[in-house]
Amino acid sequence: MTEDLAKIKDFRFDGDGEFDLSACPTSLEVPDEQLEFYEAALEKNAKKIAKLQEKLFAAGEEGVVFLIQAMDAAGKDSTAKHVLAKCNPVGIFDYSFRTPTKEELAHDYLWRGHCHMPVRGEIGFFNRSYYEDVLVVRVNGLWKGYKWPKRCFDMDEQDFFDKRFRQIRDYERYLYENGYRVVKIFLNVSLDEQANRFIRRIDKPDKNYKFSAGDLGNRAQWEQYMAAFQDSIAKTSTKKNPWFVIPADQKPVARYLASEALLKALKDIDPEFPEPGESAKQEMAELRAKLVAGEI
Ligand code: AMP
Ligand code: MG
Repeated sequence: MTEDLAKIKDFRFDGDGEFDLSACPTSLEVPDEQLEFYEAALEKNAKKIAKLQEKLFAAGEEGVVFLIQAMDAAGKDSTAKHVLAKCNPVGIFDYSFRTPTKEELAHDYLWRGHCHMPVRGEIGFFNRSYYEDVLVVRVNGLWKGYKWPKRCFDMDEQDFFDKRFRQIRDYERYLYENGYRVVKIFLNVSLDEQANRFIRRIDKPDKNYKFSAGDLGNRAQWEQYMAAFQDSIAKTSTKKNPWFVIPADQKPVARYLASEALLKALKDIDPEFPEPGESAKQEMAELRAKLVAGEI
């Protein structure tokens, strides 16, 4: 069945050719009765991801950042929950980027993400990321209110954010060159489906905690957010650090495609359990013999 499922390569953008967010689907309109195939394939992928994560952790050479950006209620947390469901929590690190604290704002914008990078061997899930600094910060004009030297912001908005895109491309290249991969997911949810999910959050007592009236403010800025996502994704998609723009109106489809993106990165890394050296093998053999003989 897997061959009939949507292919992640169709949602991957690596800077080749034009990127047009308005042409990217929010739904593949998979019939309900076929969604179970996506669920089954996701489950299989989650197991494969866990196996590779064990090796990644044991090898401790390369770190992975699994980063999800999206509008509210697109399914950032639940996607990570399903994709990483079978992983050993010991090798998982997670961090949610909220409104910056005073201390965070007193630093450069890449600082807080860098403080929360997973160590090599871990998978770090970023719920939002330093991309907020080219999204919410742009849409709300927050950058104009920051306290910093005039030379840093004395330019028009496009030039300011083009500079940030260049900095982010350089930063992600720096990470790649230092043993990290960044798997960047944009969950592309529609305005209508977002409304449905907000209504569900209000109707279901056990989902009330997820609802915040403030989230509705972003609905009024939908167009501005989509323009900011368009520019960000177009200018920070690279061969080594592509974006995956995933239709998110149907959760099983989104989760499966996100799992494909992470699985592909882990397969590329191809981690192996470290092979013990000759002296370590010798030592183990000796200790084993002593354990068997009851000497230790
Ligand atoms: P939530 O993910 O629902 O907990 O909301 C976190 C909120 O923090 C979102 O509205 C984000 O847009 C906001 N946020 C994250 N990073 C920044 C930032 N650098 N500047 C301003 N707001 C941010
Ligand atoms: Mg929220």
